[in-house]
Amino acid sequence: METALPISATEQAMQLEWNYGAHNYHPVPVVLTRGEGVFVWDVENKRYFDFLSAYSAVSQGHCHPRIINAFIQQAQRLTLTSRAFYNDKTGICEKFLCDYFGYDKALLMNSGAEGGETALKLTRKWAYLVKGIPQDQAKTVYAAGNFWGRTLAAISSSTDPSSTRDFGPLLPGYIIIPYNDLTALEETFKRDPNIAGFMVEPIQGEAGVVVPDEGYLRGVRELCTRYNVLFIADEVQTGIGRTGKRLACDYEDVKPDLLVLGKALSGGTMPVSAVLTSDEVMLTIKPGEHGSTYGGNPLACVVTMEALQVVNDENLADNAMAMGEVFRSRMTALSQKTELVKSVRGRGLLNAIVITERPEYGKETAWEICLKLRDNGLLTKPTHGDKIRFAPPLVINEDQMHEACDIIEKTILNF
Ligand SMILES: *Cc1c(COP(=O)(O)O)cnc(C)c1O
Repeated sequence: METALPISATEQAMQLEWNYGAHNYHPVPVVLTRGEGVFVWDVENKRYFDFLSAYSAVSQGHCHPRIINAFIQQAQRLTLTSRAFYNDKTGICEKFLCDYFGYDKALLMNSGAEGGETALKLTRKWAYLVKGIPQDQAKTVYAAGNFWGRTLAAISSSTDPSSTRDFGPLLPGYIIIPYNDLTALEETFKRDPNIAGFMVEPIQGEAGVVVPDEGYLRGVRELCTRYNVLFIADEVQTGIGRTGKRLACDYEDVKPDLLVLGKALSGGTMPVSAVLTSDEVMLTIKPGEHGSTYGGNPLACVVTMEALQVVNDENLADNAMAMGEVFRSRMTALSQKTELVKSVRGRGLLNAIVITERPEYGKETAWEICLKLRDNGLLTKPTHGDKIRFAPPLVINEDQMHEACDIIEKTILNF
C-alpha cells in the first residue's frame, strides 16, 4: 500500500492558498507565522530580516508593543459604532492628525486606494463648487508609472498593462503625463481650463523607487498654485518617516493641498487611510455624500494615534535618514565590486537597486536573487522586473543594518 509522503508545513500552507485562494498574487515562497521588530519567522522557525515591511506598512516594526497594547485596550472596550453615531475617539484622532500634519480637516478611510479615491472625489466636488468647472467636465492629472491601488478609479490612471488589461472601461476625465516633467505639467495646465487636480507620489514606490529631480515638488507646488489646480500628494508609501523626514514633501518644504496617507498610519495592524486638507476643500462634501462603515472607527483611531506617536517618540524619521545613508553607502560600494548591481537609489529607508539581467535568468534575474536572499535570511521582492526594493522597518539599528547588508553583499557576490 502506498503511503503519502509527509509534506512540510510550508508546502501545506502554500497548497491551501493555491487550492482555495484567488491566484491574484505571486508570493515569494516562504510562510510566515510570527514577527517582532525587524524580524519575521517562518513556520519552520527560521528567522529573516523583513526588508519589505509589508510595502512600508510595518514601519514601526512588527508587533510594536505600544501599538499592540493600544490595540488590545481599545479592542476590549469599543471597536466599531459606524458613523451613524459619535464615539469618543474619532474627533480626538482627527484633531491629532490635523495638529501632526498641519491641516484644517482629516477624513479617515481604510485602504490606501480608498484614501486616493476620497482625494479624487473631494477634488471633483471642489472643481464644481469652488473652481466653477462645468458639470462632469473636471479632469485630474497623473504621472506615468503611478500606483495608488487596485480599485477601478486607481487603475484608471495606471500605465502598467497588467493592472488594466481586461478591466475596462476605465474612468474618464484622466490625463497622464510623464513623471518628473514640469514642462509637460505646465503645457497640460495651459491647454485645459477644466483641470481640477494633479495627484503625484513624491517618490514613485511601486514603479521601483523613482526619485524625481531636486526642485520637482517645488515646481509642482508653484504650477498648481498658478493654475488653481489642487496638488494631491500620495504619501501612502513615502509618508510617516519612511524617507527620512516626516513626509517626503518636506524635502522641498512644500505643502500639498491634499495629503493622502495609509500603510504605516496603523503600524501594520489594520487598514487605516486618511486624507488631510483645508476647510475650503473638505467642506465641499456634505452629510451622506461620502463615507465607509469602518472609516474612522474607534479602534483604528486609537491605533493610529499610537502609531504616529511611536514614530515621534522613537525618532524614526531621523533613524531612517541615518540608516538609509548606511544602506546606500554599502550598496554603492557593492556596485563597484560587481556589474550585477547597476545602480542604487532612494531616500531614507525607501531604496532600490537596479539589477543587470544575467543571460541564464533573463527577466527572472531579480526574482532569483530574492530567492537566494530568502535562503540567506532576508526577505524582499522585485518590483517592475529588474529592481529590488529594500525597505526595512524604521526601527532597524546600525548593527542589524550591517548584518543585513552583509547578507545582501554575500548573496549578490555569490550569485
Ligand atoms: C500601496 C499604495 C497605495 C494603495 O494602498 P492600499 O492600501 O494597497 O489600497 C496607494 N498609493 C501608494 C503610493 C501606495 O504605495
